Amino acid sequence: MSSANKIRATHLERTAIVYVRQSSMAQVRDNPESRARQYGLTEEAARLGWPASKIEVIDADLGVSGRSADRRSGFRELVSRVCLGEVGVIFGLEVSRLGRSNADLARLLELARLTDTLVIDTDGTYDLREFNDRLLLGLKGAMSEAELHILAGRLQGAKRAAAERGDLRSPLPVGYMRDADGGTIIDPDQEVSAAVVDVFAAFQATGSAYGVVGAFTSRRFPRRAYGGAWAGELRWGRLTHSRVRGILSNPAYAGAYVFGRYRSRQIVSADGSVRDTTREQPRTEWAVVIQDHHPGYISWDQYLANQQRLAANTTRSGARPPREGVALCQGIIECGSCGRSMSTNYQANGRPFYDCADSRADHVQTRACRSVVASIVDQVVANRLLQMLSPGEVALALAAADEVTQRRQRSTRASELALERAQFDADRAERALLACEPENRLVGRSLESRWEAKLAAVAEAEAALVATRAAVPALPPRAELEALASDLPTLWNASTTSAKDRKRLLRTLVADVTVTSQVAGNDVCVGIRWRSGASEQIVTRRPPRQYEAVRTPSEATAFIVQRGPLLTNQDLVAELNTAGFKTGMGRPFDVDAVQWVRYVHRVPSPSPMQVGELSVNQVAARLGISADAVYYWIESGQLAARRATNGRLCVAYTPDVEAACRKRVADSCHLPASPMTLGVEAV
Ligand SMILES: [Zn+2]
Repeated sequence: MSSANKIRATHLERTAIVYVRQSSMAQVRDNPESRARQYGLTEEAARLGWPASKIEVIDADLGVSGRSADRRSGFRELVSRVCLGEVGVIFGLEVSRLGRSNADLARLLELARLTDTLVIDTDGTYDLREFNDRLLLGLKGAMSEAELHILAGRLQGAKRAAAERGDLRSPLPVGYMRDADGGTIIDPDQEVSAAVVDVFAAFQATGSAYGVVGAFTSRRFPRRAYGGAWAGELRWGRLTHSRVRGILSNPAYAGAYVFGRYRSRQIVSADGSVRDTTREQPRTEWAVVIQDHHPGYISWDQYLANQQRLAANTTRSGARPPREGVALCQGIIECGSCGRSMSTNYQANGRPFYDCADSRADHVQTRACRSVVASIVDQVVANRLLQMLSPGEVALALAAADEVTQRRQRSTRASELALERAQFDADRAERALLACEPENRLVGRSLESRWEAKLAAVAEAEAALVATRAAVPALPPRAELEALASDLPTLWNASTTSAKDRKRLLRTLVADVTVTSQVAGNDVCVGIRWRSGASEQIVTRRPPRQYEAVRTPSEATAFIVQRGPLLTNQDLVAELNTAGFKTGMGRPFDVDAVQWVRYVHRVPSPSPMQVGELSVNQVAARLGISADAVYYWIESGQLAARRATNGRLCVAYTPDVEAACRKRVADSCHLPASPMTLGVEAV
């Protein structure tokens, strides 16, 4: 690098920033030399006189496409630090790498000029306050952009021409392979082609993608990997619903060659950020459709019929935007048992409920995947939301959230890349092991231990990622939150606020809601994850079921249990109705209702005996004789007894009576020869 005399003390006392980036994951993976050169710029900075403590590397943008600055947090950080005048020099491999869009670059260079920041790349040192340097850098940026444009144009033109001939190669779906001449053929692996044939057969039989998943619950389905360490390899796994839909709607299986089925475009969202999205185009807008291009699994007509069928089956789309319905948590509610999104459905009476339908569709539902009435979850969530929104709490939460978001943004990105790298290394080691001849034990052993070491590294990287990620989804703009917070409770309850608006308000603060049911019990655990990163759990109860709702109120039951043994049914009815108790159906008590509670709770009826009276059995037991004898005495008038309301005989058993009885027993002459012959009264 030349022109070291442009570097002055004012530059050396400020920070030197090395900006490292590669635009795609493939580059990060396959082009380590370039990255090593970029990191090598730190040595260059040290050589030019910056102390090690003043040299910083910004590499948060590794693997992020450079077409615009919006998603590149590293570039934004670079710009903001240059603004603050903290930066003495920016190192980059080529200046055009600093910002691929010319507008981004021009802005950075203008700021660098204002703050007297140098720019150093492989060609030299640029002092932006000098016109020549500024012109040169501007030209380089413009040329880089032109280069991109021309390259892209040529590529697109050639691509389109190849596509119109049906020669442009795109990845083939599972079930197809390329032969030696590049033609498309049905996969010679019969297990694979049979699985694909069976998908179409199952759709024919069941008429729905869910039905196909059901038919494959106990079967594996193949997937062919593209790119990465597993390129071309076949992997077997579970057939999911989305996969089935993908297969059914892929025209390649009808033998057609299609180009232009998907189209990517940039969209500008409300906050001004630009995103790329890929959309499936309607069939009429596909640029190239060549039928009978290769052997099909189904006919084109069959394909069209399948599409119609699928469209008719679809009642919900994948996106979960706030809808007009009254269920507050619609779209942000998840099942705590299986982790899938819950859908919102409505009962015949119009009451909404949340249902774990996705787990059923994929046949992976657990016993705790229960639906729940929306109102009980909504009430909990809305209450917490309004409690959270006292102005002081809001200010505190916002400040904390801002800080956390900034801190996490960079560390998460780094951990993600580390994991991806570790996974790639592990896959490569596994492949090397599989490719090794089994006879070659020594090599196999060392390959195996190497693979294990790589797997351990993957686990470590995963743990690190989980730790850094355990938090913050991006916050909505701060001003929006503050404005909402000042008058939210009034706004919330206003009749002019629509259910859709309430949901939007909720979503500004609540990231998602997780409902965990017990397998059998009535407790429901509602987990709320706030956008601030905090989360909490609140346990609530399901409303009683129909049979529970008509159950006798527990206070009335307690009353009957307490007073029942002392009062007859008639007296109990009178007392219950005087005290104002009602049955589970909301009616006054009657004898039948009381009798039912007695039966269920085993409340004994009051004894019909009065004081000094005994039953026939009791008399017999006291005298040590059979009950038949006592009945005989009563029948023959030797013993006085009365009949109670429930039909039982009550003997007035005074001491005199007892003495007479004992005398009779002692005489025993009055005992009948065979008591069984006498009329025996039923008790
Ligand atoms: Zn579930």
